[in-house]
Amino acid sequence: MIESFDAKKFPREKMVILYGAAMYGELAFHALQELDIPAFSFCDRVQAGEKFCGLPVIAPEELRRYPEAYVLICATKGFQGIYNYLQQISCRHCYEISDLLPFLDYQKLPAYCRQLPVDELVEKYRFYLSQQEPASRDHLSLSFVALSITERCTLRCKKCSVLAPYYEKPCDDSYESIIAPFKSFLSCVDSIAELQIGGGEPFMNRDLGRILEWCLAQEKIKEISIFTNSTIIPNPALVRILADQKIKLLLDDYGILSRNLKSIVELCDQEGIRYLIQRFERWDDLGGYHDKQETDEQVARKFRYCSFGNVMSFMKGRLYRCTTAARIADLGLISDKPDDYVDFNRVQSSSSWKEQIIQLIYHKKFHEGCRLCNGISTYKLGIPVAEQL
Ligand code: SF4
Repeated sequence: MIESFDAKKFPREKMVILYGAAMYGELAFHALQELDIPAFSFCDRVQAGEKFCGLPVIAPEELRRYPEAYVLICATKGFQGIYNYLQQISCRHCYEISDLLPFLDYQKLPAYCRQLPVDELVEKYRFYLSQQEPASRDHLSLSFVALSITERCTLRCKKCSVLAPYYEKPCDDSYESIIAPFKSFLSCVDSIAELQIGGGEPFMNRDLGRILEWCLAQEKIKEISIFTNSTIIPNPALVRILADQKIKLLLDDYGILSRNLKSIVELCDQEGIRYLIQRFERWDDLGGYHDKQETDEQVARKFRYCSFGNVMSFMKGRLYRCTTAARIADLGLISDKPDDYVDFNRVQSSSSWKEQIIQLIYHKKFHEGCRLCNGISTYKLGIPVAEQL
């Protein structure tokens, strides 16, 4: 089992390399700063050759040059693969960072790192750590899957990342239309650490209770989160289901737009429902969804750097690697390309589906929808949150 990095025992003359140039890498970087421990560099396959937090980013192959370095794994997705690689190259000092993160000073963090309080960031990291297992053709454990259950929403956000205002006649997905293909998908994977139910606004779907009951009965689904804009107070029948400790509400706080946030929080406290309030300071501008006339190489690069590009997303029986891309396809803004997704509405063998899931996770170069989208990067300044049309 991988050890946790212990700053007190760390020999100060040693070099620290942070494996993972994304949010958890930046968090570890700031936590080290609080402890006056300088980091030497980041290591990241995708961002190799670039700079991150002002430090150089080296490629994983370059780690062999620093056998004495302390390598801290700052990734949530692909943790096991990184650990296996470090073992393979005989890295002597590799650690996870759950005991380092509590040293963070929340107020000093950049806005995009402040989406969750520090204890939640640590909890999330630990959760993924406990769920990581090697992904192979025999074993497929997914850390996160977003399940979309409605196109409808109570808000009309100008820059909605799931394009809800683009639907002229938005509809809910029925229990039957969701569960039948999702069952086939679930039969191909060994576990899903977090299934996030969203929309639109998921509390608008009258089948939500039945969908949740079915998901709760699936042992392979370890945790269920529900992503809501805090405008709808769940009814008493739903409240009884939400009190299951496998469920957590993610309550967006959009100020006055989240008009029932206070009442929902009171209800959660009263009924023992787990919840987390999310305040975003800025959103990313994904653009106006027109073809940007980029080459395949440019689109592939955008996808590689886009933090939405690893969000396994299940919508209308199809599995994508990004919810925005799934919506662009669903709205017909691009022409349909069957190899852009795994289609569980079709009848085929489990092994064939599994092979397609592996292709999607490990070999997808980009989604067709990426041609119409700006993508998400940690360095953009962002736009105001939830501005209404
Ligand atoms: S660039 Fe692609 S992966 Fe990123 S948000 Fe846009 S559609 Fe999704």
